[in-house]
Amino acid sequence: MSRDLTAPEQRRLMLDSVRDYLEQLAEEGLEGLPASISTTATRRDAAPKADAVFARPAPLPGNAAAPIAEPTASAASSPRPAPIELLSRYPGLEKTATLEELSAFIGDCKRCKLAPLRTHLVFGVGNPDADLMFVGEAPGADEDARGEPFVGRAGQLLTDIIERGMGLRRADVYICNVIKCRPPDNRNPEPDEVATCEPFLMRQIDLVRPRAIVALGTFAVQALLKVKTPISRLRGNWHEVRGVKLMPTFHPAYLLRSPGEKRWVWQDIQEVMKVLGIEIPTRGGAR
Ligand code: URA
Repeated sequence: MSRDLTAPEQRRLMLDSVRDYLEQLAEEGLEGLPASISTTATRRDAAPKADAVFARPAPLPGNAAAPIAEPTASAASSPRPAPIELLSRYPGLEKTATLEELSAFIGDCKRCKLAPLRTHLVFGVGNPDADLMFVGEAPGADEDARGEPFVGRAGQLLTDIIERGMGLRRADVYICNVIKCRPPDNRNPEPDEVATCEPFLMRQIDLVRPRAIVALGTFAVQALLKVKTPISRLRGNWHEVRGVKLMPTFHPAYLLRSPGEKRWVWQDIQEVMKVLGIEIPTRGGAR
């Protein structure tokens, strides 16, 4: 049976909601907010220091090319999930059997209003058999210019997380976005744009069939999980999309503005490493 909240509980709930909202605004790029919102620190125990981890000048010796552990027998033999109706929005999509075929299926896409504004459609990069997939929001200016996800400043930080933090190579993982074309002025993708692109992301997940997905930032997490819950409440816990474990964490662009929050990302990334059987190196003094 539920009970009425006490006044201090009500105050804490209200404070949490305000912090979550501010955090979401900060993540979306709103300037002028308090430098440290730090909601998570109020709710979780001390997290490991992360600044040094992602900022190390060089990968750990001997660990730079460490492959992600082989999939377990059960993961490797588990069947791909049956295509759900999302895919049937585009007849033939469920028949694409490789990322190349999917990319060809998408083609010179004109399915939404972003098409005439883009330089390149940014499909995704990396290992088509990756155990780990990162999903961001949408291409920015650098990505639009180069046709590759996460190549700007936020992308450099993501690469540091992968290479310096996890000891993998960027090419070992698969990286893509919820939507494939740049929204003008880096505005948030609109619902019709997400709806248009979503079946392609689902097919990418089905084809790569990673053992874990890291969803970067509020937008990607909410789009993948179909929830409106703030990321500060979702991160740090495993969720699931299309039968794949999903770990939400903060977007690297948010970390550039709020470096103090890197520790939470490092905590989430360590959880991912644990599940994938990636050893957390103890050498190098950064951890
Ligand atoms: N931000 C994203 O979400 N995706 C990119 O590819 C680059 C920046």
